[in-house]
Amino acid sequence: MKKNSIWTNIKDSYCNQLDKDMEVDVLIIGGGITGLSTLFELHNSNLKTILVERNLCGHGVTIRSTAKITYLQEQIYMNIRKSSIVHASEYLKSQIEGVQRLKDIITENRIACNLKKVASYIFTNEEKNLPKLESEYDFLTRNQVKAHKTKLDEVNNILALKVDDTYTFHPLKYINHLKNMMKDSIYENSKVEAIDKKDGYYYSKVNGHIIKSKYVVLATHYPYFLIPFLFPFKTHVETSYVGAKEVKSVKDISAINIDKPCISFRYLQDGKKNYLIYLFQSFSSCNIKSIKDNFDELNKEYQFDYIWSNKDIITNDYIPYIGRIYKDDDTFLIATGYNTWGFSNGCFAGKVLSDIILKRNNPYITLFSPHRAINFNKVIRFPIDVGCSLKAIIKSTKGNVNNKEVIYKKIDGKNVAIYKDKEGIEHIVLNKCPHMKCGLVFNEVEETWDCLCHGSRFTIDGECIEGPSNFDIRFK
Ligand SMILES: Cc1cc2nc3c(=O)[nH]c(=O)nc-3n(C[C@H](O)[C@H](O)[C@H](O)COP(=O)(O)OP(=O)(O)OC[C@H]3O[C@@H](n4cnc5c(N)ncnc54)[C@H](O)[C@@H]3O)c2cc1C
Repeated sequence: MKKNSIWTNIKDSYCNQLDKDMEVDVLIIGGGITGLSTLFELHNSNLKTILVERNLCGHGVTIRSTAKITYLQEQIYMNIRKSSIVHASEYLKSQIEGVQRLKDIITENRIACNLKKVASYIFTNEEKNLPKLESEYDFLTRNQVKAHKTKLDEVNNILALKVDDTYTFHPLKYINHLKNMMKDSIYENSKVEAIDKKDGYYYSKVNGHIIKSKYVVLATHYPYFLIPFLFPFKTHVETSYVGAKEVKSVKDISAINIDKPCISFRYLQDGKKNYLIYLFQSFSSCNIKSIKDNFDELNKEYQFDYIWSNKDIITNDYIPYIGRIYKDDDTFLIATGYNTWGFSNGCFAGKVLSDIILKRNNPYITLFSPHRAINFNKVIRFPIDVGCSLKAIIKSTKGNVNNKEVIYKKIDGKNVAIYKDKEGIEHIVLNKCPHMKCGLVFNEVEETWDCLCHGSRFTIDGECIEGPSNFDIRFK
């Protein structure tokens, strides 16, 4: 069994590393679906735009998703409706446009990325959730969506809703194609370490060089350059476990339930091979008891060929943050908090952000505004998210002390964690996340050090492979 995402199963191509000072109009930081979509929208404008990625494009959260392109998004509309029916309708419209935009980019540019039209389903197997699905059906049909009430053959369910105009794809093939189309504007293995602002320009430090720009787009998933924005208190991190298994045939469907535990699945036909991709369990990261137990649970029913985990950012009001970080300032923009629905949102974010930069009207700027006012739903989530952050910090200080392969001790006055691998080789790392000094928990399945508070991850030798940390935890 491979302990990594099925999407890594293709040959990578590489872009240059940044090795000189540069002056540009727009600097995009981060090469996931968000960063590349924004670069794509600006590529043919008269603004000189570059993208810098600290690792390889697509290898962040994007490569560990299940890669459904759909606007039927579990309980998102139900959650938004609790505070505003109008916002739920606007968000639905944006997602339908996001799905359409992504599909158009793929077809117009003939991108070979296993794009497949499939029906999306949300379903329940619990009586108590029937009214929720009934009201979702009403909401969808009132908003001119052709939804159908039905049942799903593949899983136990008492009711399912179905829409037909949605897709699945291979995210890394898509990202790599975009990357090759815009190669001259992309720098990989190029990490932004600091951003300063002086006289109306941004100065970003990358690989010891300076990029001067009029605009900065933060497409880093977790936007950690923003201390005054108090991001950890406006969001929480959710972790899910995913497996892929070879199967005889595929079905043209993708589905997700609205019950607990969360179950989500789709199929992939890749050459002669067919796979079922299956997600099981989603937790607010502070509630994770044992990473290994969660993987064992996932693997119980199917013997997977691939298993991996992934994290995404959940916002207080279930609407992403896309746009101006500071009011009336078009020069510093973010897009994040997709609530696990990053392809319609990431693609859509490219349009919203480029419209702000190019001074074009966009009807969704207010809905997604990162400095939007606190609403009722936010007030409810705020204490939960603060509590969750604190719980994760307390839990992380204990580490996973019961794991025999891991030893915690002090060396040269520093707290370190030592992992002894199967060959008996010791791997020593500093046992604090550089982001906010939370302790780290060993993920014995994927062999990484994970921060439960905000989602940073590190290899056994301390290289940072996922933010918000921007720094390694190497010892010496
Ligand atoms: C289990 C799971 C399943 C999911 N499945 C789906 C799905 O089926 N459909 C769907 O629509 N969404 C899905 N999502 C959500 C989706 O995957 C994400 O929302 C989306 O990929 C986020 O994209 P991004 O570009 O914002 O982040 P990322 O892909 O993480 O990109 C950010 C990039 O920024 C880079 N970076 C960070 N710091 C720096 C720096 N200092 N300098 C330079 N570069 C930097 C990182 O290396 C990274 O490559 C899923 C999420 C989870 C958790």
